Amino acid sequence: MIKLADPDITAREIAAVARVLRSGTLSLGPELAAFEGAFAKYVGRKHALAVCSGTAGLHLAVRALGLGPGDEVVTSPYSFIASVNCIRFEGARPVLADIDPGTFNLDPARAARKITRRTKALLPVDIFGLPADFDAFQALCDRHRLAMIEDSCEALGAEYRGRRCGSFGDASVFGFYANKQITTGEGGMVVCDDDALHRLMAAMRNQGRSSMGGWLAHRILGYNYRMSDLSAALGRVQLSRLPRLLARRQRLAGAYRKLFASQLPEFGTLGDRPGMARSWFVFAVLVPPSLKGARRDGLIKGLQESGIQCAHYFPALHLQPALRDLGHRRGDFPVAEDIADRSLAIPFHHGLTRPDQERIVRTIRRLV
Ligand SMILES: *Cc1c(COP(=O)(O)O)cnc(C)c1O
Repeated sequence: MIKLADPDITAREIAAVARVLRSGTLSLGPELAAFEGAFAKYVGRKHALAVCSGTAGLHLAVRALGLGPGDEVVTSPYSFIASVNCIRFEGARPVLADIDPGTFNLDPARAARKITRRTKALLPVDIFGLPADFDAFQALCDRHRLAMIEDSCEALGAEYRGRRCGSFGDASVFGFYANKQITTGEGGMVVCDDDALHRLMAAMRNQGRSSMGGWLAHRILGYNYRMSDLSAALGRVQLSRLPRLLARRQRLAGAYRKLFASQLPEFGTLGDRPGMARSWFVFAVLVPPSLKGARRDGLIKGLQESGIQCAHYFPALHLQPALRDLGHRRGDFPVAEDIADRSLAIPFHHGLTRPDQERIVRTIRRLV
């Protein structure tokens, strides 16, 4: 079976985690602060706060920015469900706007049309590691005095006009699940420049404790969203290897793109856009319109029967049963629906060989 994703773990990661285990300091130890410091520096932000998942990071950002009942946040229907759920956790209303068919990212012009007096924030997602159109979103935020939360969970290392993803939001969030560019098993990071916002999120992460008070002094409503020192140690080694991990992903993506261009030219593949450098996350292709929906699902089944893991990546969020109460129906976001009905994620990890990639493309061709 060729796996869809597979983390790249070396002896260095194993040694770093073992060191923490031997040290006896498994939480709130030196690895946590060291990982946060290195991460803030890499992204180019003043503060980084490590948390137990990307979802937890998004929740902290929404809550610390004061979004709640009566507030609207404009975001994308083509994403992982956490980018909408984090708004719902606080009782604010996610307002969806369709995506740009060329980037699969929230379309700024369509987002602008959804802004009302109740809109308090925008939540663009750097989907599949491609930066959102930050010049346009920043202009909207300035004009309407909105906060921006950047979901960069898929975009560590991506760049927009020379600036790293994660440097655009009032708070920006990364995820380190096992299929991301770097992993901590489970984990995430919230970055920002504002001291007070960082302090507030740090307190919320740690049961509402302030940095000055004792272990049993809880100033505000908080959560346990901490990252363990085991995860931080793993993340720190992964981050130090990031340039090479990204280069490897870039080479694999380039090889796939060439194979598709020569053998399945009717399939769409993702690439960079002017002024943007994608950080490769999953490798998704678009099946031609003649294969969309049920025929694409048949292709997925055929690939799996041939020992090749693959997935329908992503289904449109507004059609998910869990979001039914937002009141949407098929037809509301035709671009996102079309991309969702045509997208197919194929194996993408550092253990893939050139013969694996050739076999995958050959198998798709045979099934088509
Ligand atoms: C991975 C991801 C997240 C965070 O996921 P967790 O599993 O909670 O770490 C959030 N948004 C997007 C778009 C993601 O891809």
